[in-house]
Amino acid sequence: MSHLTDIEIARNAKKRPIAEIGERLGIEEAALVPFGHDKAKVSADFIESVADRPNGKLILVTAINPTPAGEGKTTTTVGLGDGLNAIGKKAAICIREASLGPCFGMKGGAAGGGYAQVVPMEEMNLHFTGDFHAITSAHNLLSAMIDNHIYWGNDLEIDERRVVWRRVMDMNDRALRDTVTSLGGVANGFPRQTGFDITVASEVMAILCLATDLADLQKRLGDIIVAYRRDRSPIYARDIKADGAMTVLLQQAMQPNLVQTLENNPAFVHGGPFANIAHGCNSVIATTTALKLADYVVTEAGFGADLGAEKFMNIKCRKAGIAPDVVVLVATVRAMKMNGGVAKQDLGEENVSAVEAGCPNLGRHIENVKSFGVPVVVAINHFSGDTEAEVDAVKAYVEAQGSEAILCKHWEKGSAGVTDLASRVAELADSGAAQFAPLYPDEMSLFDKIDTIAKRIYRADEVLADKKIRDQLRQWEEDGYGNLPICMAKTQYSFSTDPSLRGAPTGHGVPIREVRLSAGAGFVVAICGEIMTMPGLPRIPSAEQIGLNESGEIEGLF
Ligand code: ADP
Ligand code: MG
Repeated sequence: MSHLTDIEIARNAKKRPIAEIGERLGIEEAALVPFGHDKAKVSADFIESVADRPNGKLILVTAINPTPAGEGKTTTTVGLGDGLNAIGKKAAICIREASLGPCFGMKGGAAGGGYAQVVPMEEMNLHFTGDFHAITSAHNLLSAMIDNHIYWGNDLEIDERRVVWRRVMDMNDRALRDTVTSLGGVANGFPRQTGFDITVASEVMAILCLATDLADLQKRLGDIIVAYRRDRSPIYARDIKADGAMTVLLQQAMQPNLVQTLENNPAFVHGGPFANIAHGCNSVIATTTALKLADYVVTEAGFGADLGAEKFMNIKCRKAGIAPDVVVLVATVRAMKMNGGVAKQDLGEENVSAVEAGCPNLGRHIENVKSFGVPVVVAINHFSGDTEAEVDAVKAYVEAQGSEAILCKHWEKGSAGVTDLASRVAELADSGAAQFAPLYPDEMSLFDKIDTIAKRIYRADEVLADKKIRDQLRQWEEDGYGNLPICMAKTQYSFSTDPSLRGAPTGHGVPIREVRLSAGAGFVVAICGEIMTMPGLPRIPSAEQIGLNESGEIEGLF
C-alpha cells in the first residue's frame, strides 16, 4: 500500500523532457510549442498536417453514479493509458484541464491519483498553460463590448433587461453570483443587474472544446446569443463585432497541451467544460489529434455514465464525427456499498449484501452503454480496504449481466496493476464489435430528444414541462435550432432528478425547470433542478491548507 500522498508521488516522478514525449507520438520538436521543460502545446500547423491519417481506437472511461466514496475515473483513465503502453500498445490519454475553483474549494485536483497520475500535477492544477485565463479574457471582452455598445448609444437596440451574457472568473466566489454593474454615475454607463459564472461554465469554454479549427471557433463565437431586443429578436456576438478579437485571444489556447503520465506516456490535457450546463469532456481537437497519433486513445467523460457518457456520445461524438470502440465503466466496491444503503463512515466494514444491493446501479449503466452499440467492460477500481468476497460479488453480478468485470490496482501499482484490463480493452477495441449509433437523430424534435434521454437512459416514466418550456422549444425549432442535440443538466448522484434516489430507481418523472440555448456551442440545455454556475467555497476551503514548504515546494494540493 502506498504511504505517499498524491503530491509526493507526483513530485518524485522521473519526468522526461517534453520533446521526448512528443517524439514517441511522431511529433517533431519544431511542431511543439514548449511551456517550460515538461509541458508543450502541439502546433496548429502540425495538427492540420496529420488530418488525413487514419484514426486509432477510441476508449471512453465513464462510471456509475458518483458517491462521496469517490470512483476514480481520471485515475483509471491514466492507469489504463499506462497499462496499454505497458503491454506494448501505442496509447495516449486525453483528459480535462483543472479549474482553480474546485482546487481551492473541496474537490481537489484533476490529474488522477496514487500511481496513476499526470504530471506536472501542481501546474496542471494551477495556471498550467494559461488556457483558462485566455477563455476568461475572451468571455469578458465580449461582456465589456456589450456594455460599451449600450454606453455609446446602443445602435443595436439591446434591451438592457435582456442581456443574457454574464461575466466569468475562475474562482468559487458566491459573492459574485448576482451583482449590479455600472454604478457610480453617467460616465460609468447604465446600471443593470448581472452576475458572474465560473469560467468552466462559460459558453466560450464549451465552444473551444467543440470547435474543430480556428475558423469553426470564430463562427461559433459569432453565433453566441448575448442579448435580446424588446421584440425578443436575438443579438449575436457577431453583431457586437467581438468574434474576431475573441478568436485572437483564444488562438494559442486552441492548441492542445501535451504532458506525461508518471510512467512517461503521452497525455493530452485540454479544455474543461462543466459537466452539467455543458458536455463535460476534453476538447474535440485534443481527442481527434490524439487519434491521428496513437493507436489507442483513452479519454474520460464527467460524472456518471447517465450524464457523461450520454453527452460524450450524443454531443461530442456526433459533432466531431468520432465513435467509441469500447467503453470502460468504473465501479468501486465502496460506491456499490453506498448505493446499497451503507453510510460513508461505515464503508470500512465488509458488507457483501450491501454490495449486491448496490449493483443494480452498475447494471443499468451497463445496459445503457450497450444500447449505444458499444462493447463495455467494468473496471473495479480497487481500494485497499476492499475484501475478496466483495470484489467477487461485483464480478458475479456483472457476469450475470452478460458482461465482465476486471479488478484493477493502478492506483496502488501503476501500469503493473492494470494489465488485465488493458489487454481486454485492446482486444475489444480491435475486435471491431462496436456499432455505434447516437440515441436520437438530429431531425427529432427538441422535446422528443429530452423525452428519449429521460426514458431510455434515466428510465423515467415521463418528462414534466410547462407549456412555456414546450413553446420555447418550438420557437427555437422555428428559428432553425431544431437539429441541435440536448445537453441535460441534472444531479449526477442519481438516475433521477432526486440526488437521494440511489441504485436503479424507476417510476420517476423528470421535471424540466428551464431550457437555455447555447447557440455557439450548438446545444440546447435542459435544466432539471437547481444548477449552480458559480460555486461557493465550503466552510473550510482547501485553500487554507495550501502553501509553500521550506524548500519552496507546494503543499496541500491533492
Ligand atoms: P473522478 O475522475 O471520478 O472524479 P479521480 O480519479 O479524480 O475521480 O479520483 C478522485 C480521488 O480518489 C483522487 O484523490 C484519487 O487519488 C482517489 N482515488 C482514486 N482511486 C483510488 C483508489 N483505488 N484508492 C484510493 N484512492 C483513490
Ligand atoms: Mg475526473
